[in-house]
Amino acid sequence: MPHVTRRQFLQYSAQGLIAGWAAPLLAQVAGDRPPRQTAVKVLNPENRVPVSFIIDDSTCLANLAHFAIPQFRETFPDRYLQDWRKLPREIPDAFVRKFADWCRDQGVKGKYSIVPYPACVGWVDRELPGWSKRDLNASLALVRDELTPNWDIHPEMVSHTRVIDTKTGRPFPETTEFFMENWRWTDGKSADQLAEYIGFALKILKNAGLPCEGITTPGGFGNRVLPELAQGVLQACRDVYHTEIPHYFRHLYIDERSVAPRVEYAAGLGGPDPRCVVSIIGCTGDWFGGWDGLERGSVDQFITADLKSGRLPQVIDRGEPAILVCHWPGMYFNGDEVGFNIFREVVARLHARYDHLLWMKLSEIARYWAARELTSIAATAEGITFDAPFATPRFTVQSTRSAAAPPHLSAAGNSTPLARVASLSQLRRGAWHHEAETFTACLDLPKGRSVLSFG
Ligand SMILES: [Zn+2]
Repeated sequence: MPHVTRRQFLQYSAQGLIAGWAAPLLAQVAGDRPPRQTAVKVLNPENRVPVSFIIDDSTCLANLAHFAIPQFRETFPDRYLQDWRKLPREIPDAFVRKFADWCRDQGVKGKYSIVPYPACVGWVDRELPGWSKRDLNASLALVRDELTPNWDIHPEMVSHTRVIDTKTGRPFPETTEFFMENWRWTDGKSADQLAEYIGFALKILKNAGLPCEGITTPGGFGNRVLPELAQGVLQACRDVYHTEIPHYFRHLYIDERSVAPRVEYAAGLGGPDPRCVVSIIGCTGDWFGGWDGLERGSVDQFITADLKSGRLPQVIDRGEPAILVCHWPGMYFNGDEVGFNIFREVVARLHARYDHLLWMKLSEIARYWAARELTSIAATAEGITFDAPFATPRFTVQSTRSAAAPPHLSAAGNSTPLARVASLSQLRRGAWHHEAETFTACLDLPKGRSVLSFG
């Protein structure tokens, strides 16, 4: 175990709070970028603002807060004094279904964690002691059938508490913060070591029949090894799931910093095996119900009743993706559903204020940003040529161009006309708009070369 002084210990502890996402900003590597003419701008998809909802600390059936708190307290005896015995051991599937139904009706999309070995209670691909095999299978089926169409599934490492020895599958005997996933275990680890651990978590979800294109870091995981973390995610997702564009959720900012996704470690853009990893950034704190389901949040922090202020208008009005963050125990709030009620009101206010939001899964946002930053674009009199290492729906470009002849998108010998729309707000995939000197088009960008030609 690394030696630490008491002062360092206190300093690290203060930084190692469970909600300690505010990692020091180490240089992460953007990697390659293609040649790009400034004459063509890539806008947001359909010229709308992406919105998404990140749910952390969810899993099958087990209430992570109930099982994790005694383990956190063993590591930090003077913290985590919540009476965990009073918290329910289960967050029932009836609540998952109710939540999923409501979100589907509202068009809400996002990310839902499945912690593979929640607080060492049991393995979601084998046995979850305390519940029957039938309960577990029904819970997994619910996630597969009702959630995966609109939600990415992420592991949040293996247990979200103790570090697991991947050779034996058992937790290490040490219980200091250096053997906790959500604190300091990752300090000094290499990209390969992190990839191996992340891969171990991904394989459990794969065994359980769940799709996955990215990961969420529990608490402080990876905080001091950000470049290695990004590379570890890239390797592990490609190895286990052959993910084309891996992504991860590690950062959230509630200050002036940009919350646009970061496309990192891009390489091989012109070749047969392009690669990158996308860091998805949250823009709110958990102002719903807290990670333990004991802290009541408030709607107004997201968006006020007059719809004019709050964190979400700040982000949406500058056109960056507004990605809200919560914890599943706080949504359920021990049966009172405080977090869920706050979320419902937040969504109602957002939809009352804006008509140009686009709910997206994190993987859809990652794909869009990869295409946005990594597609080589060249404009000539005849048209605009795209060389795209990654395909994406709703690729939206704008340029100054007086010719208003109907454009065609040509790729692989096929040519498809785009439909003209009367206003920019009607822009949808396969459509174009022209006004004054400005031409805007929204197309499903294919991988490889395509040309948007005029006349
Ligand atoms: Zn978490």
